[in-house]
Amino acid sequence: MGSYLTNLAFSMMNKTGNLLLSPPVGGGFGQFRNHGPRDQRKVAITFDDGPSVPCTTELLDAMADLDVKGTFFCVGQNTAMNPDVVARAFAEGHTIGNHSMAHRRMTSIRPTGGDHIDQGAEEIRKVIGCMPRLYRPPWGWLTPWEGRRLHQRGYTIVGWDVYTLDWRIPEPDGREVAAGVCRDTKPGSILLFHDAYPGAKHWKKSETTRAIQTIVPALRAQGYEFVTIPELFNIPAYASAPTTQSPVID
Ligand SMILES: [Zn+2]
Repeated sequence: MGSYLTNLAFSMMNKTGNLLLSPPVGGGFGQFRNHGPRDQRKVAITFDDGPSVPCTTELLDAMADLDVKGTFFCVGQNTAMNPDVVARAFAEGHTIGNHSMAHRRMTSIRPTGGDHIDQGAEEIRKVIGCMPRLYRPPWGWLTPWEGRRLHQRGYTIVGWDVYTLDWRIPEPDGREVAAGVCRDTKPGSILLFHDAYPGAKHWKKSETTRAIQTIVPALRAQGYEFVTIPELFNIPAYASAPTTQSPVID
């Protein structure tokens, strides 16, 4: 009974938090950018919670075959565990954004502090040589004060308008995920996928890749073009131009 009530309370907290704090339905107090211009058939693929092996590397292989670039919102801990994967994604033209250091809900809704933002950025900088300027909060939970911390640091806060359940365990069928995405996509849409479980170095997850392999040709056939988040909004991805030195991996 105790655990039933705990689960019920947790579920209610999650539902309320998602409603108030997450995109795209009113959450985040208007601080999110949930989609690009609705008058151009451009859409952006985004991935959260990674990188992981082999999920992210398989995705990168598939995206290279499809000649499509995405935006990866990386968790600092995952970046530290798989720096070579982040370096590869960056080298292949994907955009790297910040998804906090450890994907903890409480750090981002606490009224003070910003280490979870800065540490996540620093892990990315160590790998790609420049500071990210795109941020997606863990769970999409964004309070007004977290938004202020992010804006003070120069971040654009990126939400989504097409949500998938590809994070579920076991993974939902990639063709069903793809069908939902193709149904919900509009000009300017930002599509949300997941390429890891936060904090897991290794993650086997092939249905997300299968969904991408279905979605890209299907939406291209409808005249859609795939762009990165900086291209969708015409904004910089990083604080300064990437260095010409080789990425540092330690
Ligand atoms: Zn996440």
